[in-house]
Amino acid sequence: MLRAALDLLVPPLCWACREPAGDRLCKACRLRLPWIEPLAPRRRGSLLQQHWSPLEFEGPARAIVHALKFHCATALAALMAQQLADSLPPRAFPPDAALVPVPASRLRQRQRGFDHADLLASELAKLMLLPLVRPLKRDSALASGQRGLSRGDRLSGRGMQVRAVRTAPLRVVLVDDVCTTGATLELCATALLAGETTAVSAVTYCSVP
Ligand SMILES: [Zn+2]
Repeated sequence: MLRAALDLLVPPLCWACREPAGDRLCKACRLRLPWIEPLAPRRRGSLLQQHWSPLEFEGPARAIVHALKFHCATALAALMAQQLADSLPPRAFPPDAALVPVPASRLRQRQRGFDHADLLASELAKLMLLPLVRPLKRDSALASGQRGLSRGDRLSGRGMQVRAVRTAPLRVVLVDDVCTTGATLELCATALLAGETTAVSAVTYCSVP
């Protein structure tokens, strides 16, 4: 009630263009979302059976990801999950699959106070009626004290370790906000396939073109 009254007095700002809007994303920014073919082309040697990623990391999609990650706009996770769910075909994931968030490093989690991919995966699991499991842990080079990696090293996933810490489901769909080079998804798939998991796919909100 109080929230609704406040919204009338001071309309919330659109997270992409920062103009007053009746919603988290204004109509104009919704229309400017850079949609692409949701099924990403398979990379050579990839361990992923499929990779769904319906948006380019550009324009309003990029602004939404930044707002979630760097401005704690956690309510955007529900909006992103809804956009993902609406853009995927009905049988994009196997019915017995479980969603597994790509884990943020412990350092990043501490800095932000939350794990953005975990939030996105939680919202998506509710919409798609799939279980959410968290078998992966990540140790980044920065967290373990190996500083001095180049940007290229970080993008390629060098210096990062992902391990499955407990029994993982047979069929997994990894969830993350952005796919940059795909290296992090491949590391997660490697860790899972070393255990009992037999098939790994992925869904990311957007991809770097
Ligand atoms: Zn806007």
